[in-house]
Amino acid sequence: MSTADVSSAISAAAQHIASSEYVVAMTGAGISVESGIPPFRGPDGLWTKHGTPSHNGYQRFLEDPAAWWRREMERSVEPWVAELRRAVRNARPNPGHTALAEMERAGYVRSVITQNIDGLHTDAGTENIVEIHGSRRYLRCVECGDKTPRTSLFATEPAPPCNVCGGPVKYDSVLFGEPIPPRVMESAREETNRADCVLVIGSSSTVRPAGGLPRIARANGAKLIEVNTSGTRLTPVCDVVIQAPAAIALPALLVELRQVGVPRGGLPGTPEPDEEHPEHVRFPGTRPQNPPERRRRRGPGAE
Ligand SMILES: [Zn+2]
Repeated sequence: MSTADVSSAISAAAQHIASSEYVVAMTGAGISVESGIPPFRGPDGLWTKHGTPSHNGYQRFLEDPAAWWRREMERSVEPWVAELRRAVRNARPNPGHTALAEMERAGYVRSVITQNIDGLHTDAGTENIVEIHGSRRYLRCVECGDKTPRTSLFATEPAPPCNVCGGPVKYDSVLFGEPIPPRVMESAREETNRADCVLVIGSSSTVRPAGGLPRIARANGAKLIEVNTSGTRLTPVCDVVIQAPAAIALPALLVELRQVGVPRGGLPGTPEPDEEHPEHVRFPGTRPQNPPERRRRRGPGAE
């Protein structure tokens, strides 16, 4: 894509965003590449370099949580996990994260649904966020779903059993074979259903269920804008395609939006805290989140 094409795509995207009522951004690994976090797939992908990961991570945790934590403490994790953790530990938000947070503050974007576990959207100032694959910053009980902040990002002691229900506790980030926690999936679906415009950033849209959300929005009549360095399976159905890194495209889009003027949807409401889980926010006007289901065997989440 030539520079002129990118810049005309950015203008078209700004027009769509400014004339929409409820814009949701959906982000994948591609937005964090400029923060030094390698993607999973593609030429420099973690799984390309280290091989396909084992797909039974959640099963192994459930079989013996104490042994799982011992392996964690001994750092006997798969090489791709070790590399990802090193990168996440050192990562800072890049101009793509910062521009997206500013789009939310200015009322252009209402929420961000991310597949990333790195917490960089929050560091950049994004407030309304659904972390569909969880976060490295929290621990979560697999029985009742209770979440607690990790006091140290890379703990030296296993997490004790849940102090609400006594169930086994793991990192909040979703393992292979682990279902997406129901209330997280529900928030993601609610945001998707409210959207009349979706900005899909740095996601290959291949991993279900997160990758299926843009198509659900599309089926509801939402406009789709894609920001990615290369084409994806979603590209053919997008209204606008900006083929550029997010760290370049999003700041340029923000500049363009400021010229277009006030968003049609007005300024966003203040998120309401979820009393039971103060680390969550509930979006104004959405239904209260359901109590978490008991753990299921293999769910829709592949990672
Ligand atoms: Zn619990």
